[in-house]
Parts: sequence; C-alpha cells; structure tokens
Amino acid sequence: MPASSLPGATAGSDAAILRPGRAPAGGWRTATVREVAHPTPRTAMIRLDVPARVDHLPGQHYVVRLTAPDGYTASRSYSVASPPSDPLIELLVERLDDGEVSGFLADVLAPGDTLEVRGPIGGWFVWDADRPAVAVGGGTGVVPLVAMLRHARDRGRPELFTMVAAAGRWADLPYAEELAAAGARIVLSREDRPERPAGRIGLDDLPDLTAGPTVFVCGSAAFAEAASSLAVRAGADEDSVRVERFGPSG
Ligand SMILES: Cc1cc2nc3c(=O)[nH]c(=O)nc-3n(C[C@H](O)[C@H](O)[C@H](O)COP(=O)(O)OP(=O)(O)OC[C@H]3O[C@@H](n4cnc5c(N)ncnc54)[C@H](O)[C@@H]3O)c2cc1C
Repeated sequence: MPASSLPGATAGSDAAILRPGRAPAGGWRTATVREVAHPTPRTAMIRLDVPARVDHLPGQHYVVRLTAPDGYTASRSYSVASPPSDPLIELLVERLDDGEVSGFLADVLAPGDTLEVRGPIGGWFVWDADRPAVAVGGGTGVVPLVAMLRHARDRGRPELFTMVAAAGRWADLPYAEELAAAGARIVLSREDRPERPAGRIGLDDLPDLTAGPTVFVCGSAAFAEAASSLAVRAGADEDSVRVERFGPSG
C-alpha cells in the first residue's frame, strides 16, 4: 500500500478522514489532538487528550492507527514522553521521508483532529521511580526516557535517575534543552560539545554500573546493540539491562 493511500497524503488535516472506526476489544480509543509543535524540522510533538485513559508507567507506548478512505489501516507504536501526572499524552514523532505513518503524523496532523490509539502498552520497559536507574537513549529513543526523567522529578527523586542521550548533532536530539538542563550526559557523534569532542558513544560516556541499577536502553536496533553491550562492559548485570528497539514496523 503506497503512502499516498493514507489519509495524510490526500486531504490535509481534515479530521473527517481520520475515521475513528470501530473500537474492537483491546481498547481502541478516539483521542483528540490538542497541540502540535515542531521542535525541529523533522519532528512533531503531539499532545493528545485520551478519553477514559488508563494511567501509563514511564516507558510504555501507545499504538496509533490510521485508516485510509478505502479502509486500509496502518498502525505504529509511539512511546509516551509525558509523565503520568500530565493530563495529556505527549508523543514525539520523527518524520521518515519514506515512512507510511510518521510523515502523516509529523506533517499533516493538526489540533482538533482525532486519532485512534490503543494503550498504554508494555510491562517490561517501565520504571516507577522506585529504585536507581540509568537510561541510555539514541535519537528518538530518548522519548520514553524523558517520561522517566519527568516522573523522577514529579516524585521528588531525580537522584535515582541518570541519563545519557546520544544523537548525531544537537539539533537531532529530541528534548535536548530539557535533557541538558536536567544534567544528562549529551553524546554527539558529529558535533563537539564543551565537555566532549564529537564521537560515537563509548565506555567513557557511561557511569559505573556495578552498583546494579536497572539500565534502560532505547533507540534504533544498531544503537540498542552498541549501547547494551557497553552497559555490560560498564559492569551491568545482563539481566538488569532492558532494551527497547525502534525498528521499522508494520
Ligand atoms: C515500542 C516502540 C516505540 C516507538 N516509539 C517511537 C517514538 O517515540 N517516536 C518515533 O518517531 N518512533 C517511534 N517508534 C518507531 C515507530 O513505531 C515507526 O516505526 C516509525 O515512526 C516509522 O514508521 P513509518 O510508518 O513512518 O515508516 P515505515 O513505513 O514503517 O517505514 C520505516 C522504514 O522502513 C523502510 N521500509 C518499510 N518497508 C520496507 C520494506 N518492505 N523493505 C525495506 N524497507 C522498508 C522505509 O523505507 C522506512 O525507512 C517506536 C517503535 C516501537 C516498536
């Protein structure tokens, strides 16, 4: 099914063609888009009002389903960036130029539109600010970790959460300002930082993990593999490393 068959490619942000559809067992809900911002040209921050929402745990995701006029559907997963205390669900979507769903969400969706969503989903990659955690995210992989960071702050336990955030350049890193302000180590492979020359993430970027924190690693399959093996070299027990991969889906 070509991307041009999805609603986003046909008629702008006309909410009528984002059909809510039937809500099968499994909890599909019709969420209303309250805010859309574009923190960078390639990303959209989408804030949704999800009716009768079940509170999520930081690290969980929602599935978003689009329906074309001919009934064709495409579903993709998006991590929640907002903490449970936020009345809206915040997603951060990076537009892939040849992507079926992300282009619509990043370029076409507008406040007032509706979206079918199902969630929150995931029981393994979650953290409730109850014990020390170290999070390592690459690119949009920082999104679920931002929910954890915000939750730690909400709970008054920021000292329990240590974050390492990696990207090519500062402008490619979602939530860069917030992460830096919260004391995250920022690792840029193609840009120097005052505290770190440009270069891929390495062992020196990770804290000592021998004390046994839960380690959350999130990003592309390649990033997840590199960062999780670094975590083990930094002393993490393999069982304490939890990985979420943002590979192509659908
Ligand atoms: C748990 C989870 C959480 C996620 N959270 C986020 C998030 O917070 N933010 C975010 O931006 N993304 C997130 N993702 C990724 C997201 O679900 C989508 O995969 C992403 O948005 C791309 O979807 P798309 O429909 O735009 O691209 P797709 O149409 O799925 O294409 C993705 C890529 O695969 C290529 N491709 C597609 N089909 C083929 C094929 N047959 N052969 C070869 N290549 C192909 C495309 O060219 C494109 O480059 C998450 C994924 C998971 C699993």
